[in-house]
Amino acid sequence: MKTRQGIGMTSQRTRNRMIDRLMEQGISNHSVLNIMRDMPRHLFMDDALSSRAYEDVALPIGYNQTISQPYIVARMTELLVDHGVTGRVLEIGTGCGYQAAVLAQTVDQVYSVERISPLQKKASKLLMDLSIRNIKYLHSDGGWGWPDFAPYEGVLVSAAPTEIPKVLLQQMQVGAAMIIPVGPQGGQQLQKVVKTATGFDIEDIEAVSFVPFVPGKQ
Ligand code: SAH
Repeated sequence: MKTRQGIGMTSQRTRNRMIDRLMEQGISNHSVLNIMRDMPRHLFMDDALSSRAYEDVALPIGYNQTISQPYIVARMTELLVDHGVTGRVLEIGTGCGYQAAVLAQTVDQVYSVERISPLQKKASKLLMDLSIRNIKYLHSDGGWGWPDFAPYEGVLVSAAPTEIPKVLLQQMQVGAAMIIPVGPQGGQQLQKVVKTATGFDIEDIEAVSFVPFVPGKQ
C-alpha cells in the first residue's frame, strides 16, 4: 500500500472530522460512514492537493475531471445501500477510483467504465495497491454500459448526461436502482431511478453539480 510519511495520524483525525461533517449533512448509513472513515482519500489525488483531501470540495484529478466531493460520494452510495443493493453494480466514470473503492466495500462486485484511459489505469493500479480486488474495469463510452455482465442490481453514474441513456436503463434488472445526475451544467438534479415490472419510478433527490457526461472515448 502506498504511504506518505507523516500523514497517517493527521489524516485519521481529519477523516474523523469529515465523518462528523457528513453526519451533520444528513448522511446516516453507518456502513457507508465507516467505510469512508477508513478510506485514505488523500491517496487518490496528487501530492500537492492531498492536504485538502478531506475538505468537502471537488478537487481536480487531471484531464479536466474532478474527484466528487465526499458528501456526494456518501449520498450516492447511501442511496444504493439503503435501496438494498448488495450484488453487482455498474459504475460509469471511474475517475480517480475513490467512488469505486467506497462502493466495492459494500457490494459484491463493481463494474467500472471510464472513457479516459490514463485516468482509469491510474485508478486501477491504486486500487490494486489498496488490495481492493472486486472491481472490473472497462475503457469505453459509458453510454453503452457494459452489456457483458448485465443485468445489474445497481447503477451509479458520476458524470451528468442531459437525459438518462436508454442503454443503461436496459441493463438494469427489475427492482434495480440507478443513481444519476441529469441535466445541463448549472441545472442538474440527482435522480434515483427504480426499474419496476412495468416501467421506471423516478425520484428527484437534490440539485447537484457534476462534470458533463461526454460521448466517445479517448
Ligand atoms: N467517481 C469519480 C468521479 C470522477 S468525475 C471519482 O470518484 O473520482 C466523472 C468521470 O466520468 C470522469 O473521469 C469522466 O472522464 C468520466 N466520464 C464522463 N463521461 C463519460 C462517459 N460517457 N463514459 C465513461 N466515463 C465518462
